[in-house]
Amino acid sequence: MASLKVIVRGSLKAMGVTLRNLFRRPITVMYPYEQRPVPRSWRAGGFALTIDPETGEENCIGCRLCEFICPSQIISVKMVKGEPRKNGKGATYAESFTLNFQACMQCELCVQVCPTDAIVMLRELHTPGFSREDLFYTKEKLLENGRRALENPELLSFTTGERIREWTSPKKGEPA
Ligand code: SF4
Ligand code: SF4
Repeated sequence: MASLKVIVRGSLKAMGVTLRNLFRRPITVMYPYEQRPVPRSWRAGGFALTIDPETGEENCIGCRLCEFICPSQIISVKMVKGEPRKNGKGATYAESFTLNFQACMQCELCVQVCPTDAIVMLRELHTPGFSREDLFYTKEKLLENGRRALENPELLSFTTGERIREWTSPKKGEPA
């Protein structure tokens, strides 16, 4: 008999929880129709290669530091020599640049090590893609993302965004 009491009490308790939650506002949202703001430090939205806004030149000098530091070994860069840049950033370029986003752990080491702030991380939710091919970034795809980021700096993750804002600041290099 005691066990029947326990069962009834337990069932009533469970029904009480159900009833209480029935009238609560849902905490889920109907993504993609409704979207929560993306945190400023979110950095799983893919990558971009930046372009000098003044000269339109690629900032990547093909040095391969990002390739060497990447713990997942998913970056591959081939360097070539070319014409000296107008912005004084040398005369070497990335002939090819690939990044396999599938195995990226978002550690951001590649961004931090880059001497020319050429590689940045994005904070948008849509970019990464729906197929494996979509997650394989070629240089062209990364530069296209870089052009979009130049038009809309809000796409940049906070830390990388901060770096590109410093880099594009007209006060860069002046004494503090
Ligand atoms: S953020 Fe991704 S691509 Fe960059 S170093 Fe880390 S694992 Fe490699
Ligand atoms: S993205 Fe930066 S670190 Fe990587 S090859 Fe280009 S210049 Fe070097």
